[in-house]
Amino acid sequence: MRASTSVFVFLFASISAVSAGQEIPDYPVQRVSKHVYVIHGPREIPNPTNRGFMNNPAFVITDQSVVVVDPGSSVHIGEMVVRQVRKVTDRPVSHVFVSHIHGDHWLGSAAIKHAYPRVKIYAHPQMIAAAKGGGAQVWLDFLSRLTNGATDGTRAELPTELLQDGQEIAVGGLTFRAYLSEHAHTRTDAMIEVVEDSLMFLGDIGVYQRMGRMDDGSFRGNIAALDRALTLNLKHYVPGHGPSGGPEAGDAFRQYLKMVYDAAVKYSEEGLAPYEIKAKLMPLMDKYRKWPLFAEDFGKQVSLAVLEAEQAAF
Ligand SMILES: [Zn+2]
Repeated sequence: MRASTSVFVFLFASISAVSAGQEIPDYPVQRVSKHVYVIHGPREIPNPTNRGFMNNPAFVITDQSVVVVDPGSSVHIGEMVVRQVRKVTDRPVSHVFVSHIHGDHWLGSAAIKHAYPRVKIYAHPQMIAAAKGGGAQVWLDFLSRLTNGATDGTRAELPTELLQDGQEIAVGGLTFRAYLSEHAHTRTDAMIEVVEDSLMFLGDIGVYQRMGRMDDGSFRGNIAALDRALTLNLKHYVPGHGPSGGPEAGDAFRQYLKMVYDAAVKYSEEGLAPYEIKAKLMPLMDKYRKWPLFAEDFGKQVSLAVLEAEQAAF
């Protein structure tokens, strides 16, 4: 009896692992520059309707192969990215760049690796350490819960190639330059510039027309990273969430972070509580209150900024 129960459990587990999760329809692809295509996801949090798709996967067509950036939350989203690449070119995917540890950006790598077993997957060394140290499983579970299991069937395909700040990787006539931060949106962020296209992938260091998460972030570090990206004065900026654009696609969030952090420093020195600081800031938030997730996140972000300002004052 005991043995047959285990066999049943084993079979059931195998079947559900194969059939779990939900496919993703093909979302529109936008050509942002000569070589760069972006699939701009819904500006939402992962939910059962979007099946976890809410970031901006991108692919870059070089003379020899294809480079993918941030292939999304699940194996199913990664499969959609592969289908979209194949509509544009029959060149293989040779490289993936992962912007940071948050699973909505990189768990789709499993599909890229399955379709192109020789692909090299790059990330910040701390991203790889965090994923190995339990971060991968936390994100697999979190996304499954938020989507009612739509992302199930995904396994974490960890990056193996460690990026360094300033590193340049040449692929098929294009130059990919990495910009690493110690602590910006997370402690694992890499921004990637496509030099010949005058384009920067910001990861979640820059979000646009949708609020960004600061739970793992540093206001000062995130502002410094955006300063660095925007000082380059490139033609194109691709945010982690929201539409791509010119410098405004990075500058809007930089202005927001500065306003919140500067107010946190000034008013916490004067002894104001976070809710009072929030009230002082509200009239300055006209541009941002329309951004999805603003209402949910703003109060928490003011508290985080106050905490960071108080720690910096010691
Ligand atoms: Zn993120």
